Amino acid sequence: MRWDDFRRSDNVEDDRDSGGGFGGGGGFGLPMGGGGLGIGAMVVLGLVGWALGIDPSILISGAEIATGGRGGQYQQPYEQPTTRRTTGAPKDQMGDFVAAILGNTEDTWSVIFKESGQEYRPPRLRLFAGSLPGGCGLAQAAMGPFYCPTDKRIYIDTSFFNDIRVRFKGCSGKACEFAEAYVLAHEVGHHVQNLLGILPKAQAAQRAAGDKVAANRIQVRVELQADCFGGIWANRSNQKWKSIEPGDVEAALQTAAAIGDDRLQKQSRGTVVPDSFTHGSSAQRQRWFTTGLKEGKVSACNTFAASTL
Ligand SMILES: [Zn+2]
Repeated sequence: MRWDDFRRSDNVEDDRDSGGGFGGGGGFGLPMGGGGLGIGAMVVLGLVGWALGIDPSILISGAEIATGGRGGQYQQPYEQPTTRRTTGAPKDQMGDFVAAILGNTEDTWSVIFKESGQEYRPPRLRLFAGSLPGGCGLAQAAMGPFYCPTDKRIYIDTSFFNDIRVRFKGCSGKACEFAEAYVLAHEVGHHVQNLLGILPKAQAAQRAAGDKVAANRIQVRVELQADCFGGIWANRSNQKWKSIEPGDVEAALQTAAAIGDDRLQKQSRGTVVPDSFTHGSSAQRQRWFTTGLKEGKVSACNTFAASTL
């Protein structure tokens, strides 16, 4: 992937120092059944959330699937911590890459929004290591990247970059950059859904649905649309910056397959439970990313109208 020419975003918040240990701890490195929380604690948190009427989908994750696709254990958003953090484009390799991809999604989506007479307001992105900082008040740190609609931030645990290459084995070598960019673009896709009013509508529909199975079905459409939006970014970025190199798309598709719910559930439990899918199967994720990549326009990504996903 070619990204040297990308403008670096100023919307990166570097919280890696205050997280305690670079790439250490966190519990994300191994496929643990409970993801760091006992099953009892998860049941309790789930029930608390249910009783308080908190929407479990308030936090849309690109990788909560890594702990088995459970979507219920959230707490209420809490106060932002007052730790000092660096703002602006980081200078190290990982930070520079993230700032470049985020900057490129900003430039790309600004153009797309302008085409329909709208203004794109970019999300902020917080890099952290180890324990999760503030935001959506997630109950555990054992997660990959996710988007928090309430504070309009993308959160990325630095261990994610290692996971993409080593644990999920979705890519190898330089092609990993595009696979990583695709996952970032997926999270930005959730922000676009938020700006377009799709997320609030989907969440209302999930509340109205009442049961978890129906809510999960809606969630799958949300996730596949974010994949499709990621494909739109890749399409437009390649048109203008010639950013895609041979092998890149294959690496992204491999990654999409590697982080499909069916694959991850097989890894973690040995069986597949379709009703609990929240991100879609590997084939579905590949299909919708490809659709966005080919078509390059939002109207091609209506996963909510599609009769077959
Ligand atoms: Zn997602």
